[in-house]
Amino acid sequence: MNNIEESIRLFIEAKQLMPGGVNSPVRAFKNIKGNPIFFKSAKGPYLTDVDNNRYVDYIGSWGPMIMGHSHPKIVEAIKKQVEVGTSYGAPTGLESNVAKLIKKALPSIEKIRMVNSGTEATMSAIRLARGFTGKEKIIKFDGCYHGHVDSLLIKAGSGVSTFGLPDSPGVPEDLAKLTYSVPYNDIDAFVKVFNNIKDDLAAVIVEPIAGNMGFVPGSHQFLETLRSLSSQNGSLLIFDEVMSGFRVSLGGAQEVYNIKPDLTALGKVIGGGLPVGAFGGSKEIMDYLAPEGPVYQAGTLSGNPLAMSAGSALLEILLSQNPYNDLEKKSEYLLKNMLSMMESKGIPFSYDQIGGMFGFFFAERLPKNFNEVASTNDEIFIKFLTQCLLEGIYFAPSKFEAGFISSTHNEDVLDETLSKVKKVMEKF
Ligand SMILES: *Cc1c(COP(=O)(O)O)cnc(C)c1O
Repeated sequence: MNNIEESIRLFIEAKQLMPGGVNSPVRAFKNIKGNPIFFKSAKGPYLTDVDNNRYVDYIGSWGPMIMGHSHPKIVEAIKKQVEVGTSYGAPTGLESNVAKLIKKALPSIEKIRMVNSGTEATMSAIRLARGFTGKEKIIKFDGCYHGHVDSLLIKAGSGVSTFGLPDSPGVPEDLAKLTYSVPYNDIDAFVKVFNNIKDDLAAVIVEPIAGNMGFVPGSHQFLETLRSLSSQNGSLLIFDEVMSGFRVSLGGAQEVYNIKPDLTALGKVIGGGLPVGAFGGSKEIMDYLAPEGPVYQAGTLSGNPLAMSAGSALLEILLSQNPYNDLEKKSEYLLKNMLSMMESKGIPFSYDQIGGMFGFFFAERLPKNFNEVASTNDEIFIKFLTQCLLEGIYFAPSKFEAGFISSTHNEDVLDETLSKVKKVMEKF
């Protein structure tokens, strides 16, 4: 079992310096009442903590490490750029490179704007949708998380639900009033709200494959309904693919479902591990942005050369290797074997996966929305997660988070994981 003395010491220190000792709430491990692990290095599928324990990583920096940590091509691209400058505050060809690679994979994007995080991407997409349509209201779905954007921190998933906050103080009520949150995968509820507010509806924003209430794919019919009603009404459909983009397939969830959104928000994978977000859509909508159009949006470090180098190196690898089938097989192998271990202990367990993203739940049936995820078993989850951590398996520390696998999780790594899970299950 891992000794995490140094992580405990660093956390005590960090708590004196930063609220909760972290710079992003989920990292604090509050949901599993544990001490966060502090890391010092990572390679391939493995993380090494400050006490020199090794972990098989199933978070992958929440997506970007899809080809494994410290991939040589990405390291090389970053090194090469560092030598010639890290930021110019002026355009570079690197930005067009990344834009071309994204367009190749996501045909719904004709023009794109780079930003620095997923939050910036959805925030700007919402502003653009409001500016373009001249309307103000937004529909989102319970448990979908779109970053900590004021208008979108309404029944948002993961971090927020981990701490049981329905929304956040500091978000003005008058602004929150413009956002309507509807149960995910509930067509009737959506149609009802839609019909009530359609005259002032700027946009419908959704995680087509949700990864912030655990892993919960949208149903085909649900997403089709969002598409067709939005089109009829002249409201924009925004797919938040910050997590699913380049994670579930090359073309994201929009390729998996064959549904074209008006705007797409991206982040995580497209930065290759550096801070990047982006949003894009048709020329007509995107040209509504400054300096071409009237909707203002800007960023001093947007399209940063270092981030663009890492992003294009990773996107080039993904476009040439298309690893998604292989990733899905790996997840399935892992989860199928975990299921039989759980079954032999009489523990309710269900799982699902698409491409390099997966989820498991301590429940007989796969949940379809936030409330169903919330009602899965907490006690078993916390015990399982904590024991896995001590054995060196790093799963997401909240049942409201998804799992991520990389191409470096080969058969040996998966079998190593399974033998550790088996050891954990002996204590159940
Ligand atoms: C992570 C995430 C965001 C926010 O991105 P940040 O880079 O953390 O600001 C937005 N939407 C979804 C679906 C996400 O998973």
